[in-house]
Amino acid sequence: MPVDLHVHTNASDGQYPPAEVVARAQREGLSAIAITDHDTTAGIAAAQHAAAVSFPPYEQPQIIPGIELSAEDTVFDPVKGRETSIDVHVLGYFIQIDAPGFQDALHRFRDDRLTRAQAILVKLAALGMPLVWERVLEIAQGGAVGRPHIARALLEAGFVESVPDAFDRYLRAGGSAYVARARLSPEGAVALIHQAGGAAVLAHPGYVPHYPRLIERLIPSQLDGVEIWHPGNNEHVRANLKALASRYNLVETGGSDYHGEAVKPDIRMGSVTAPQGAVAALKERAAQFR
Ligand code: AMP
Ligand code: ZN
Ligand code: FE
Ligand code: FE
Repeated sequence: MPVDLHVHTNASDGQYPPAEVVARAQREGLSAIAITDHDTTAGIAAAQHAAAVSFPPYEQPQIIPGIELSAEDTVFDPVKGRETSIDVHVLGYFIQIDAPGFQDALHRFRDDRLTRAQAILVKLAALGMPLVWERVLEIAQGGAVGRPHIARALLEAGFVESVPDAFDRYLRAGGSAYVARARLSPEGAVALIHQAGGAAVLAHPGYVPHYPRLIERLIPSQLDGVEIWHPGNNEHVRANLKALASRYNLVETGGSDYHGEAVKPDIRMGSVTAPQGAVAALKERAAQFR
């Protein structure tokens, strides 16, 4: 049965509330999804509740408690001739949401998100694109604020053609309204997930230019897996990842990184799925950290 291990709700920058996400997962015929919101576990209980009350037991998608943490790494860019910062996302699976210190850490990350989003709005205003802060918060629907919410506000105000256009023109790393969030290292993200009793997986390595080096660097931190199947990994990246996974005994995972059409117009839930056995392997890895 197909499993999508990378799904966002409106607890972070996904479009739909947890119950709606679960209904869609069931319609897509998925037997399990992992709720992997950015820096928050707020969507997990609602998703589990919705699955339990909406469907008979044999039709309930399993809801795996997950998280996606944003770390940053610095690498030397030979083209620019200087150090640049790279977003590194680390997924956590079977996390224990009440683990000591975990919610405090997530709370700090979400506070940083607010400060950073306000700094991005200052830059956008200076570029002649003033946005209303309260409107960004409304779009975020009380969830962890992220650049996709700002992108949607830019679209609404007519400053961009689409959400991806907002990223290309202003919000991408290095873009004119970009603000970095240098708080957590990739090692720190892996450690935090382990402290929460979860298995740590490098997300969408196709977006990380130095992923082979980074994966090797994270082996001593006991990185548990790599997200080989993701819309952002091309064939070449997937082949490299398979070799690395087998060399370092990493769990091979996969997911669509579903956010809803308003954020990622062409990504359907379940369009990318995990290999057989990934869920059991992640569960076993997570058990080592309890
Ligand atoms: P943030 O969490 O604020 O750093 O924003 C990063 C999030 O923006 C990612 O997790 C994606 O959900 C989304 N994102 C990044 N690039 C794009 C893009 N080109 N188009 C749409 N969404 C994007
Ligand atoms: Zn996202
Ligand atoms: Fe991500
Ligand atoms: Fe994601």
